[in-house]
Amino acid sequence: MSVAVKWRIREELSLDEVVEKYPRFPRLIAVKIDVQRRGVHYTERSLGAVDEKVHQMRSPYLFGSRDGAIKPLPESLLLRDGTTILTDPTPQGQDPYLVDLVDGKFALTDGGKLIEFIDLWPKPKYYDKKTSSGIPMSHVASARPQRLNIFQSSYCHFWAEDRGCRFCDIVTHTKQQKDEVGVPTRLRPEDVSETVREALKEPGRFTNICLTAGSVLKGEELFDREVDFYIETLQAIGENFATKKFPSQLIGSAYNERQLARLYEQTGLTSYTSDLEVLDQRAFDLVCPGKSKWVGYHGWKERLVWAVDIFGRGNVGTGLVAGTELAQLSAFASEDNALAATLAEAEDLAEKGVTTVYIVWVPRPGSYFRDQQNASLEYYVQLAQGLHDLRAKYGLGVDFDDYRRCGNHPDSDLSRLL
Ligand code: SF4
Repeated sequence: MSVAVKWRIREELSLDEVVEKYPRFPRLIAVKIDVQRRGVHYTERSLGAVDEKVHQMRSPYLFGSRDGAIKPLPESLLLRDGTTILTDPTPQGQDPYLVDLVDGKFALTDGGKLIEFIDLWPKPKYYDKKTSSGIPMSHVASARPQRLNIFQSSYCHFWAEDRGCRFCDIVTHTKQQKDEVGVPTRLRPEDVSETVREALKEPGRFTNICLTAGSVLKGEELFDREVDFYIETLQAIGENFATKKFPSQLIGSAYNERQLARLYEQTGLTSYTSDLEVLDQRAFDLVCPGKSKWVGYHGWKERLVWAVDIFGRGNVGTGLVAGTELAQLSAFASEDNALAATLAEAEDLAEKGVTTVYIVWVPRPGSYFRDQQNASLEYYVQLAQGLHDLRAKYGLGVDFDDYRRCGNHPDSDLSRLL
């Protein structure tokens, strides 16, 4: 079911106006943000030029899309400076950008105007293979620009008490994905190890491995079982490397010191991320009721700082679903207030060695916030610049989550400018 959200019903600056107002900010990153904010719709003409033998198509993912459908569409767009735009297919009635053909080439257009010529991601070679147990390898690891994404399980225990994060559709999407495409809800470590081995045969394509999943509350202590699952999978992946450590990222729940030490000592993991989603106590309580109940805003922050002692400055991060802090039931009356509060909290974390990245919030039909609207382009541009400036000020790297590895954070796209 789609939700009829119109993007131009409120007063806000257009792409051209934002680019003119912020000349220091790269236009192509502003284009990326606006495309993610409004989504894309593929014309029939452009789809006719997509070649599934050559282009990377959308593979199973933790979260759904704005059109609530699972269809064979390209995974991502590539701009001429190497910036990627992970696309969110969006019904045409919601005023998205169009992916069309202009002069026989893929192009982004808006209102009949050419915005940029684009390319599509090339398909990795392992996408055509299956594991020994018969699972398509594209269902085990999905490819980002130079990263393998492994979603080891796609259920989140916060949903059991109706305390899932309000922007999240993991459980509704997982059910749809299992029913329509047969994607397993939990991956076997053997399948993961075999897929990583196959993917790494493609010279130069992958330089990082990222694991993430929903939260698992079970265990002697909160999250113990979740940590067990990750250790098992990371150890299986590690069989493919001659060194103990390998470039990797885990995006998990907020672990205690014992759990963090286990992960560091027993696996090859090199970086740790745990998402606060919003940087404000009141917004956190409203947007993330499960995280708020089980750990709390200040507890979550404290655990991120503990992780710096183990993984090192610049190897610990937190992610925001930017714009949810402005959702109607939330904490801020204006974008100016939300921006100031978010950057102040990000600076507090940066001083302590934790880096902050954001993704553009997409209100999805399978989430609680399905009928709300994300923030203005100007807000997202200022947030990207502010987070990047903090990294520069505090000397924090973000190599494990930049445009080559992840490609989904407008703020870490700017790390190329340093
Ligand atoms: S922790 Fe929140 S965002 Fe992550 S899967 Fe669970 S409900 Fe979704």
